[in-house]
Amino acid sequence: MKNRLSFAEGLKLFKEESLEELKLRAQEIRKLKNPPSRVTFVLDSNPNYTNVCNIDCSFCAFYRHPKAPDAYTKSIDEVMVHLAKAKKAGLTTVLLQGGVNDALKIDYYVSLVSEARRQFPEIHPHFFSAVEIWNCARVSNLSIKEVLEHLWEAGLRTLPGGGAEILSERVRMAISPRKIGPNGWIEVHRQAHALGYKTTATMMYGHIEEPEDILSHLETLRLAQDEVPGFTSFVPWSYKRERTALRRNVKHWAGEDSYFRILAFSRIYLDNFNHISASWFGEGKEIGIESLHYGADDFGGTLLEENVHRATGWVNRVDHNDMLKMIRKAGFEPAERDTFYNVLRTYEGVYEVEIPEEQKVNEPDHLPPLIFNAKAQRP
Ligand code: SF4
Repeated sequence: MKNRLSFAEGLKLFKEESLEELKLRAQEIRKLKNPPSRVTFVLDSNPNYTNVCNIDCSFCAFYRHPKAPDAYTKSIDEVMVHLAKAKKAGLTTVLLQGGVNDALKIDYYVSLVSEARRQFPEIHPHFFSAVEIWNCARVSNLSIKEVLEHLWEAGLRTLPGGGAEILSERVRMAISPRKIGPNGWIEVHRQAHALGYKTTATMMYGHIEEPEDILSHLETLRLAQDEVPGFTSFVPWSYKRERTALRRNVKHWAGEDSYFRILAFSRIYLDNFNHISASWFGEGKEIGIESLHYGADDFGGTLLEENVHRATGWVNRVDHNDMLKMIRKAGFEPAERDTFYNVLRTYEGVYEVEIPEEQKVNEPDHLPPLIFNAKAQRP
């Protein structure tokens, strides 16, 4: 592609360029790729169907071993209760993920999708990250492609991009050696794209990675998008250390400048991605608002329910009106989108909408972190 940065040029830019210059370059690109005054968001929720997992990622506070006292696996009906709540709250998308649970085979995953489609046709199911697809294939004696085909037939059309962390074998061996590696993660997405799925790509930084690892991650995404397009957006967030085993090796949060640098740089480097998503959730509302000036054109979802960051003590809540206010505070016009990034609604002259009771925020942000409970995680 013309004017594309090579890996070496990208690495130099990422390491050496001033944040202000990266910001200006990212803003220019963002203006060419998306309406300059608009920032999109989605009304969504992120419940979970199981926290049972044996992968033992050292950065994760969410999972439990199968026999832990607070391990859970929900029945199909129990998961549908979360979709019913999402419907009542006026949401359009449910992002559903869980641990790597060997007891759940293809029938369970297919039933989740088909029941969601049957009972809640107005809710878009954005279900199962790459490692869940991979494990479902493994325990069901199917190929990745067969699992994706079964889920497509049941009505699934998009996958969330969670679980990528940093697509670097060196990093994986240090923080999650039992998880599928960079090749496994990208292969699930490539196969999904080939079948017609759209997916997102994420990155969790701010732990043990080096700039070279971040460049490898972005290079892997860019190459896959060239070869089998299907990524809608890139969504980076920082590692939250509380109540995780890895906290002993990582003393501090990566900081806002790192976030701004990664957002701006990814807008420059990922020239074949249409969207870059900033987050009010992952980095806090004020930093999120400011981050919209670093090349992002999307502000993620309202996340009515969220349990993975919550497990680290990170709690941050908004409703539909808060979204409108935050985007306007940054100087942009809000637009509601769907999971494919199609705009559903704009808000010219509308400063408040009616919020269903089920969507109202009734707890404070940033609850104080609890003490890491190793016993609860490893009975
Ligand atoms: S990040 Fe996912 S795979 Fe890793 S321990 Fe947590 S739930 Fe399991």
